[in-house]
Amino acid sequence: MDLYEHQARDLFAEHGIPVPRAEVTESAKEAREFARRLGGRVVVKAQVKTGGRGKAGGVKLAADPAAAELTARQILGMDIKGHTVRRVMLAQPVDIEAEFYVSYVLDRASGTFLAIASAEGGMEIEEVASSRPEAVARIPIDPAVGVTSAVAARIAEVAGLPPQTVDVLVRLWSVLTREDALLVEVNPLVRTAQGQILALDGKVTLDDNARFRNARWGPEKEADHEETLETRAAAKGLNYVKLDGEVGIIGNGAGLVMSTLDVVAGCGAKPANFLDIGGGASAQIMADGLDVILSDPAVKSVFVNVFGGITACDAVADGIVQALEHVQLTKPLVVRLDGNNAARGRAILEERAHPLVEQATTMDGAARQAADLALAPNPL
Ligand code: ADP
Ligand code: MG
Repeated sequence: MDLYEHQARDLFAEHGIPVPRAEVTESAKEAREFARRLGGRVVVKAQVKTGGRGKAGGVKLAADPAAAELTARQILGMDIKGHTVRRVMLAQPVDIEAEFYVSYVLDRASGTFLAIASAEGGMEIEEVASSRPEAVARIPIDPAVGVTSAVAARIAEVAGLPPQTVDVLVRLWSVLTREDALLVEVNPLVRTAQGQILALDGKVTLDDNARFRNARWGPEKEADHEETLETRAAAKGLNYVKLDGEVGIIGNGAGLVMSTLDVVAGCGAKPANFLDIGGGASAQIMADGLDVILSDPAVKSVFVNVFGGITACDAVADGIVQALEHVQLTKPLVVRLDGNNAARGRAILEERAHPLVEQATTMDGAARQAADLALAPNPL
C-alpha cells in the first residue's frame, strides 16, 4: 500500500527527519485559514497517490491566504493521472538551494535493499536516470548491517550529497525497517538557503504482508481512485493482471496460465489478461473470474484452460455451470479440461449445452479456437 504524501511526511517527522510545517484539508475555505496559521505564503499540494504532481499543475505557490484558498479551489477536484484530488496539503514554502534524490528500495534482482541517491533530485529525476545514469548512485545495503552513520556517509559520498544529509539517510533507513516499508523515497530532499536539510516530498510503500501492524493508515480502498479491473479482482481475492489483448484467460496454476498466454500468442491473438484460479474451482471463483474478464470491453473470447490435479475437472465444470447462472455470458467461452476427472467434467458441460460454450480436447486446439473467435469479424 502506498501512503499519501502527508502520511509519509508525518512518518518522517516521527522518525526525526526534518519536514516543513504543513496542514491537510478537503476544503478551500479551511486552506485559507491554514495558510494564515502557516504564515501566509504556502505551497498548495494535491494529495494523490501518484508522482509528477508538480508537472501536472498539482503543486502551486500561493502568496497569501486568499490566494491559497483560490489555488486550493483549483487543485481540489483536479484529475491527475486518473486520481481525483480530494485533499490538499498546505506546506510552508522553503528557499531551495539544492535538490537531491534519495530512496531505499527492496531490489529483488540483487536480493537486497538498494540505496538510490543523486545530487540532481527534483522533478526531472526520471530523465536524469535515463539520460545520465552515472548521475544516480545505486548502492546495495547489507540488511544485517543496515544504514549506520558510516554506511550513510559512504552513500552521501558516492552520490555527491553534502555531509549534512547523513543523519537523514540513517533515519530514513529506520522508517523503512521499523514501518515495514518496501520503498521510502524523498524527492526532493533539499538544502535550503539557510543550510537546513529538509524532506519536501515523500513516498512510502508499506508491505501488504504487514498490514495487520499498519492499521493506522486506513483501509486499502481509496476513495480518490477509480475502480480498475485489478482492484475489483483483488477485492475478490483473484490473482488477475490486465493485459492489452482480446482473449480472456482463466487457468489453474501460474505456470499453466503463463504457457496459455504463450499458446494464444502463438495463434496470432493477444491475451487480454492473466487470471490464475489456483486450486479453487468453486462456482464463486468461476463467477468472479468471468465477471471480471467479461467486464473488459477488449475481450472477444474467453479461454478456460484447466489441468485437473488436486482440483478435479468435474468440480471445475460444476463451477462453470453454476457461474453461468449468475453471470450473463456475452462472449464465447472455449473450455479445455484435461487430467483428473476430465471425462466427467466434459460430460457436465456437454449436458448443459450453453450456446456460447465450446469444448476442445487439447490446449493448442482450444487456443486456436479462442483466437479464431476473438479475431473473427464481429457478426453484428
Ligand atoms: P511531485 O514530485 O509529485 O511533482 P513535489 O512535492 O516533489 O511533487 O513538488 C514538486 C516540486 O515543487 C519540488 O521538486 C520542489 O521544487 C517544489 N516544492 C515542493 N514543496 C515545496 C515547498 N514546501 N517549498 C518550496 N518548494 C516546494
Ligand atoms: Mg517529488
